[in-house]
Amino acid sequence: MSAAVAAYDVNNIFARILRGEIPCKKVYEDEHALAFHDISPQAKIHVLVIPKGAYVSMADFSAKAGDKEIAGFVRAIGRTAEMLGVVESGYRLLANHGPNSHQEVPHLHVHIFGGQALGRMLAVERKA
Ligand code: AMP
Repeated sequence: MSAAVAAYDVNNIFARILRGEIPCKKVYEDEHALAFHDISPQAKIHVLVIPKGAYVSMADFSAKAGDKEIAGFVRAIGRTAEMLGVVESGYRLLANHGPNSHQEVPHLHVHIFGGQALGRMLAVERKA
């Protein structure tokens, strides 16, 4: 594994949600993934999809997860978007990794934003 990926913290908040120690507003669950509403939504619809395996971020997941886990996770994201009813109107996916992204929770999560026009792709100005 890359040195840029920290060791997995088994007590991170999403690991605790997966273990049922902390409640969540569940949207979808299958053998590979769990989807639930973000506690501090930044759009009308803001849902997080997390794999059930212990992966810190997309860098960790893409390097270490098996093909079935990867396929199952991607399908779970698609199914969650369908269940949220945002496929026709459109949605945005976002996954943070590492310091520049300000990733807060060290368990891979993909944000699904939707339910409204989402504006610019990024808040930062690109310097020439
Ligand atoms: P990130 O900056 O990509 O790591 O995003 C972490 C996200 O997790 C933020 O949008 C938080 O609002 C969200 N979050 C933190 N704790 C919880 C929780 N207990 N239930 C649901 N969402 C949470």
